[in-house]
Amino acid sequence: MATDIRVALAGNPNCGKTTLFNRITGQNGYVGNWPGVTVEKKEARLSSDKNVVVTDLPGIYSLSPYSPEEQVSRDYLMSGEPDVVVNVVDATNLERNLYLTLQVVETGLPVVIALNMADLVEKSGDKIDAGKLSQRLGAPVVMISALKGSGVDELLRTARQEAAKAGSVPAHRFDSAIEGVLDDIEKLVPAGVEEGKRRYYAVKLFERDELAAKAISLSPASAAKVEALVAQCEKDCDDDAESIITGERYALIAHIMDECVKKAPAKMSTSEKIDRIVTNRILGLPIFLAVMFGVYYLAISTFGTAGTDWVNDNLFGEGWELFGAAMPSVPDVVTGWLEAAGASAMVTSLVVDGVVAGVGAVLGFIPQMVVLFILLSFLEDCGYMARVAFVMDRVFRRFGLSGKSFIPMLVSTGCGVPGVLATKTIENEKDRRMTVMTTTFIPCGAKLPIIALLMGALVGTSDATWIAPLFYFLGVVAVIVSGIMLKKTKLFAGRPTPFVMELPSYHFPSIRSWALHVWERVSAYIKKAFTIIFASTVVVWFLSNFGTAGWEGGSGAFGFLPDMEGVPEEFTDYSVLAMLGGAIAWIFAPLGFDSWQATAMSVTGLVAKENVVATAASLLHIADAGETDPSLWAAFAGMFSTMGGIMAFGAFNLLCAPCFAAMGTIRAQMNSAKWTAIALGYECGFAWVVGLMINQFYLLAQGVVSVWTVVAVAFAALILFQVFRPMPKGAWDDEPAAAAATA
Ligand code: GDP
Ligand code: MG
Repeated sequence: MATDIRVALAGNPNCGKTTLFNRITGQNGYVGNWPGVTVEKKEARLSSDKNVVVTDLPGIYSLSPYSPEEQVSRDYLMSGEPDVVVNVVDATNLERNLYLTLQVVETGLPVVIALNMADLVEKSGDKIDAGKLSQRLGAPVVMISALKGSGVDELLRTARQEAAKAGSVPAHRFDSAIEGVLDDIEKLVPAGVEEGKRRYYAVKLFERDELAAKAISLSPASAAKVEALVAQCEKDCDDDAESIITGERYALIAHIMDECVKKAPAKMSTSEKIDRIVTNRILGLPIFLAVMFGVYYLAISTFGTAGTDWVNDNLFGEGWELFGAAMPSVPDVVTGWLEAAGASAMVTSLVVDGVVAGVGAVLGFIPQMVVLFILLSFLEDCGYMARVAFVMDRVFRRFGLSGKSFIPMLVSTGCGVPGVLATKTIENEKDRRMTVMTTTFIPCGAKLPIIALLMGALVGTSDATWIAPLFYFLGVVAVIVSGIMLKKTKLFAGRPTPFVMELPSYHFPSIRSWALHVWERVSAYIKKAFTIIFASTVVVWFLSNFGTAGWEGGSGAFGFLPDMEGVPEEFTDYSVLAMLGGAIAWIFAPLGFDSWQATAMSVTGLVAKENVVATAASLLHIADAGETDPSLWAAFAGMFSTMGGIMAFGAFNLLCAPCFAAMGTIRAQMNSAKWTAIALGYECGFAWVVGLMINQFYLLAQGVVSVWTVVAVAFAALILFQVFRPMPKGAWDDEPAAAAATA
């Protein structure tokens, strides 16, 4: 059997690595048009040759181990595992990308340079001389378009040829003075290090890269000699070692660019024209708000609702018609089967009122999910969302936050788990923790049914279709307000991380990757409906059907409530679930929803957010024992006494601690029990306060005043104070001592 050939894809963020990876392996890795999407390496075999294993590495700008993704990539490259490195380069941004290319070539590994986005280069009219570039860099260069597929076969052929070689010899040389020092250092690199890698380590030692020194177990004596050489060179050049190397690299790149690239006469591209408006200082933010309002309005309030209403009313309600013929609803069909099989009333209730009602309610929101993710994926892939990060950076910076914190939030609109993972790209630990704490405020796909349910319930009482988009903004506002408040505390004070990202050109997404995105989200949602939600509805059914016959004339015995003597219509009030929910319902009384049902929905929502809706549907079906079949919206609204309570319920469930999966991810990212507790505690506390304010201010508008009105006003004042007071003096000093002294 032939041994595997290992190909590593390395390159800057957003240069198209994953697009290439997906194309050649047939995988569906996440392609996003912003940096920081791939934070862990991914592996798959080539579709055309199963002996070739391809690894998609996280995007990096350099091989210095400054960030986790740089470390992952560098460790892998130097591990000796890859047989050949394909350095993917965004050819529309060649100058910037070459910084990494030089370092990859220096490793002495067999390298092929893939100049990606050939289609865009051609459109721009720029001319890149691939042959000359190859000569200058000492590695083969292939022009490709990962998106369109051109050049990819040739790239694979070249990679295979290179993999057979022992390694490459970097062709580029720095300014002669530096080269002399590097040569001297190279002689000090232990003899065990193979020929091709000696120069790489010499450069790293020059940069005082301690991890590299450790990797080759440099002896203390040699280390001292290296230090003397570096110190002398620093004195001669009047600069520090790292800057010397950086300067040399840029000088070399400028030279290579001169030789190998002929720029087309500058004219403003369409992308630049669009960006003049979209990233405009004044218009940028309102445009973003309008776009997101439109997205949620279309998905939840118009198109999507039509589909969801049809599913809920017909498929899971009264039955439907097909070319004039009456078709039964799903619950009727299932009931029929169970009757035919001779199932007991108990089993029928479990299946029909528990599982079918709960899972069905969740599945009923699929049309809205599809519309939402068609729109979000488009915005993301066409390049607009990258602009939003740029616009938000300007907004965030004013408050001492970085736009880097906004990217995890964009990811969180799909799911909080990858959203929290995306915080890995934030180097500053305080900013990273704060982003982990707040990113799940953004409504994820699983929260969509909650928003849709609330809207349905509210529309029942007024014509409030504009409510749905507002719940998205509630998430955004919660993030910003929390960010501003937390930044002013000692725990999170500090200067914002610098945020640089180049804006990719706009393009129409490939239909394949667009469809894949939507399918990825929707299929995960369906899978969850049939696993976690399914299991939860079974548990909820048992908890709400078993209890003590504690009603007047009841025996007080424990058992299956519907079968008991003199069972009242509201038998679920005597269930275990009612007891458990009732025990903590007082917490939510000031928020206007103190029924045990609403409490049970919120608690099951911690397992998975879809459960809020699934539990609501199950409880409603169980309570009316399948007799009447009111629309889900109306019945849900009936669980609350005021509109304020419904909105507070929504706000609480959207903002409080996320589902178990996301909580686990938060735990892993924080890597500390204390910080996990702070994060979840803050989320729940903040959610409670927002719910309290919504309900109490609603009541106040109706002329109802209580001691809770005072508490709500006090919280509002406290939040306003913390948001608008000036940044405490010294809060931006990076020295903890200085911050402590002024506090
Ligand atoms: P990664 O961060 O390096 O993994 O980059 P991705 O694969 O996620 O791609 C970033 C963006 O560039 C996506 O919007 C891709 O559709 C786009 N893209 C990738 N390759 C090409 C290409 O050859 N031509 C064009 N026009 N766009 C591309
Ligand atoms: Mg990627």
